[in-house]
Amino acid sequence: MPIHTLVIHGGAGTILRSDMTAEKEAAYRLALNEALDAGFLLLDKGNSAVEAVKAAVVSLENNILFNAGKGSVFARDGSQEMDASIMDGQNLMAGAVAAVRNIKNPVELAYAVMTRSQHVMLNGNGAYEFAKLNNIETAPDEYFYSAFRHDQWKQMQGSDEAALDHNVKIKDKKFGTVGAAALDMHGNIAAATSTGGMTNKQFGRVGDSPIIGAGTYANNKTCAISCTGHGEPFIRAVTAYDVSCLMEYKGLSLEEAMKVVVHDKLMKIDGEGGMIGVDAKGHAAMIFNSDGMYRGMRRSGGMNEVAIYK
Ligand code: ASP
Repeated sequence: MPIHTLVIHGGAGTILRSDMTAEKEAAYRLALNEALDAGFLLLDKGNSAVEAVKAAVVSLENNILFNAGKGSVFARDGSQEMDASIMDGQNLMAGAVAAVRNIKNPVELAYAVMTRSQHVMLNGNGAYEFAKLNNIETAPDEYFYSAFRHDQWKQMQGSDEAALDHNVKIKDKKFGTVGAAALDMHGNIAAATSTGGMTNKQFGRVGDSPIIGAGTYANNKTCAISCTGHGEPFIRAVTAYDVSCLMEYKGLSLEEAMKVVVHDKLMKIDGEGGMIGVDAKGHAAMIFNSDGMYRGMRRSGGMNEVAIYK
């Protein structure tokens, strides 16, 4: 029986020990452990990898510390637009939403797109209408607001730049895109990713997170991957799918393939960030080329690891 495994991230970027207080670090570690608890409980009970990655991502979306769901970053016009996706490695089914507003848990909407529509990706008003029709919970703007994120945006307002949330040059650097990848006890893998995107982005901008093959990919034959980082290079590198291709066509292991993509291919096009992944044999890895990545891994048998810095 494969070892069931859950691996998560809460964003990569300029995350330095020198910018962290003991309380903040403890809060992040707690949040990461809570997300591992949420997903792993389901894996332990025999639920699917898809259910587990969704539950882990919902937990992270509901935590204001991370740039997804509650606490998402602000776009150039002061709105908060979110992207999310989920993919089932057993059957290559996928669902995604792009630039949605007022959806409490964008990953739940992505899951509904996968399971209850004929489509893979919905955006904007159509996504909102689909959410309403499918009883997906919505929330007012105030729910998503965080003073910290608002300050980050204020510092960039008026510029043409968009930034990874952790890289906004202010003292208190925190928050991040979230994601999960899992292997269940039936041997199936899945991945999910959710984000508020980049601070001060053009509204309507869509990052890599909801794009199947870029920010998220899962295929039982190879791997399940969730990425975090500067979305534009990740899209151009077709990042998550490239890991799968290196495994399928070149016979690389999960970790070898992730390292080639993160440390070589992405670096060559200024693609700062990282990714987490699992394969169907129970291997898992967390690889990044930035200063840090909020991350955690748990497996049946008792292994549990949560880490932040390089
Ligand atoms: N990849 C996300 C985006 O570009 C941002 C992040 O990972 O923090 O939208």
